[in-house]
Amino acid sequence: MRYLIKDATIVAMDSAHGAEPFGGDILVEGDRIQEIGDNLSGGGAETIDGRAKLVMPGLTNAHVHSWEAMYKGRYDNLPLELWMLLCYPILGAVPLPPRLIYLRTMIVGMECLKTGVTNVLDDVIEMPGQDLDQLEATFQAYDDLGIRANVSGHIINRPFSETIPFTDELLPDELKAKVSAAPPPSTKFFVELAEEAVSRFHNKKGRLRYVIAPSGPQRCTDDMLIAAYELADKHDMAYHIHILESKIQAVTGHEFYGKTLIGHMNALGALGPRTAIAHSIWVTDEDIRMIADAGSTIVHNAISNQKLSVGIMPYRKIMDAGIPIGLGSDGISTNDTPRIFDVMKAAALLHKVSTPDYPQGPSASEILRAGTINGARTAMIDGDTGSLEAGKKADLIILDMKTLNFTPLNDVRNHLVYCENGSSIEKVMVNGEIVVEGNRLKRVDEAALLEELRGHLPEFKKQHEQLEALNSAFRPAFEEIHKRCCGRDLGINRFSRPPSEWY
Ligand SMILES: [Zn+2]
Repeated sequence: MRYLIKDATIVAMDSAHGAEPFGGDILVEGDRIQEIGDNLSGGGAETIDGRAKLVMPGLTNAHVHSWEAMYKGRYDNLPLELWMLLCYPILGAVPLPPRLIYLRTMIVGMECLKTGVTNVLDDVIEMPGQDLDQLEATFQAYDDLGIRANVSGHIINRPFSETIPFTDELLPDELKAKVSAAPPPSTKFFVELAEEAVSRFHNKKGRLRYVIAPSGPQRCTDDMLIAAYELADKHDMAYHIHILESKIQAVTGHEFYGKTLIGHMNALGALGPRTAIAHSIWVTDEDIRMIADAGSTIVHNAISNQKLSVGIMPYRKIMDAGIPIGLGSDGISTNDTPRIFDVMKAAALLHKVSTPDYPQGPSASEILRAGTINGARTAMIDGDTGSLEAGKKADLIILDMKTLNFTPLNDVRNHLVYCENGSSIEKVMVNGEIVVEGNRLKRVDEAALLEELRGHLPEFKKQHEQLEALNSAFRPAFEEIHKRCCGRDLGINRFSRPPSEWY
């Protein structure tokens, strides 16, 4: 297909314009943007009237876990590790059937597309482990929707008791025995699985990619962290990992390695340009320097971080170090939606309350960069998407500027970050194809898919309530670990109140 968008307001997010709006036409040919300029002639292209319309790159959700979609709206007021007990049960999980995984992924992808997210990095965890049929179901859902997707095989290969400090002392023997009954997968097993995933799913349809995702440095063996980076290098893939999300994780580095988790990754050679670090909240100044020197990136999850009460990322220090920041929703149970318009607003606001030194707060232009081109950078596909430029993939959204969100119209950049919530979107284009028009998904039957998913809920919820009851046995030990780690003085504080006021 060829499209000519005429006389639009364009926010290109390219290096020449950044978030500064300008007027012009956009010619789309096949899956790519052919040209951006004035008075373009389409020569038979379908013309889209761009007057009073804003065209910008589709947003990137650079960190989401579709696994959690079944727990949307289920939990509140739990810190990371206590919430994980319920959402990622340590004991008793049974593999989900691929059809339910397909439907689960669909509800994430459908909401992404309808709210302007054209590129998603889904760090997919399956409990108790992931097989290729399950991974295929996730890829199939994104393929059917027409979205651009980067899908991981999330891997944990250390026994649970070795991933959190003080479990040896605080977990009852009976629970320790149950936890160690199932041995974790070996590095060799994962490398073979990942190689097969690459050959089946990576670089397909011009918009589907596989991503290497060791869960976190403390959740994987050193040889796994290194082998995973070598795999990412070999196949030109992103290397996606959680580091220093909670204070427990900050203490973990000192307890397990005698250094920070970033220092550990750096010593292994697993910190590099492919490394995208989800969170990076409890980083030291030296950690920030190592991340910058390595050319790594950070994915900021401003809403999830607030909901899980893990602390506030040192935004301006990271920006000043020149580290690209993308934005993620994080899992659908800690946000509880993949909408990036929400995350942009939350991120813009969160860092304004961190300090009275107001110029340190994020600007709307910085936030738009994080939600578009820098998000694409964290997934290693900024050469293809994330900005509107001739030669790049045609991944864009068209918004109506006559809505309440844009009236009265002042600074377009501020409207996008502070007023817009996705409801002004008229069209969403991915890979040159219009996949959303007038709030309707063009490739799939949304109502039928939701109805089918609802049919699974009674049985699913019954099973999950049993898992919650079984795993609540860990709670007393985890409460103690949480308090003990939060009480440890590491010389940095990422909460808004000082330790003396915490409890
Ligand atoms: Zn995450």
